[in-house]
Amino acid sequence: MKWEENVRRAVPYIPGEQPQKEGVIKLNTNENPYPPAPEVERKIAALETDKMRLYPAFPDQSDLAAALAAYYHIDKEQIFIGVGSDDVLSMAFLTFFQSGKPILFPDITYSFYDVWADLYRIPYETRALDEHFLIRPEDYRQPNGGVIFPNPNAPTGILLGLDKVEEILAANRDVVVIVDEAYVDFGGVSALPLIDRYDNLLVVQTFSKSRAMAGMRIGYAMGNPRLIQYLNDVKYSVNSYTMNYAALELGVEAVRNEAYFRECCDRIIKTRGRAEEELTRLGFTFPKSCSNFIFASHKRVPAQVIFDRLKERDIYVRHWNKERIGNYLRITIGTDEQMEALYAALEQICREAAPL
Ligand SMILES: *Cc1c(COP(=O)(O)O)cnc(C)c1O
Repeated sequence: MKWEENVRRAVPYIPGEQPQKEGVIKLNTNENPYPPAPEVERKIAALETDKMRLYPAFPDQSDLAAALAAYYHIDKEQIFIGVGSDDVLSMAFLTFFQSGKPILFPDITYSFYDVWADLYRIPYETRALDEHFLIRPEDYRQPNGGVIFPNPNAPTGILLGLDKVEEILAANRDVVVIVDEAYVDFGGVSALPLIDRYDNLLVVQTFSKSRAMAGMRIGYAMGNPRLIQYLNDVKYSVNSYTMNYAALELGVEAVRNEAYFRECCDRIIKTRGRAEEELTRLGFTFPKSCSNFIFASHKRVPAQVIFDRLKERDIYVRHWNKERIGNYLRITIGTDEQMEALYAALEQICREAAPL
């Protein structure tokens, strides 16, 4: 049809499956296996229906911005809040990557980056991780239109040391560098302390993983007030009221209960330690993870086979049919009980598929 010539074509990001049937062991999208803080539940009961008549607060003037500022010991003007970090990242692409020069990110990384780049017609080049899946800072030295990488990286779970992060920043003073810290609370080291020294650094985090609120859609970015101002200008040019009343209120409660937050993260880290032992015993190899998932490859059984057989047993993990990572599975750390079920299933599957 003629009108199709003028359609903006997009190839959307494909998220992990969200099976709707009961009893599934869902280790495929890095959600938190524990509920949000008890205060969040209490607050739900205290939400005021009458407030829903009104447009919500601007995110940058909300109590949530104040709570995050207090938590991180920064100013409200250094925080941008969006509808999940996907929204934050998408706005950051739209705002900062306008030079026409290619932006740079790793070849193996969060598979939304190339989707946004294509959507906004931002040229990009990828930089290959080394043979151990490590980011090489020296690959990010030549002129570019901006840099983005997750730290810890996804889907590898590998943490890049802060000295290396700073090396990338120091080599890219004239463009915006985005560090996507979706998994930083599971043993990572945040680049946040560097925002005072690097006015081109944007640190992005989310409530979806460590704060167990993927369903509420809250993400945020921290950086120099000028970066944040530019982001808000673009954001408010798309939609003035981006965060709904409930998300703004409930987010505050999640930030305030630090003890519960730490306890859940510690529990996941502990379960991850046990998963490392069990997966090794079952014949898997994997890089050291600083996130709430493990990126594992079996020595004898192809990832696709394990993926399919797990799914038959209602255990969902993530697998990409992509170059370099086609023989890996990304396994989210669940509760101890879920993980025990996983080990039992893996034991059976690997024995059947490749008897020793
Ligand atoms: C999960 C994830 C996000 C986005 O999460 P939101 O739910 O949109 O906050 C961003 N980056 C990486 C690397 C992720 O894994």
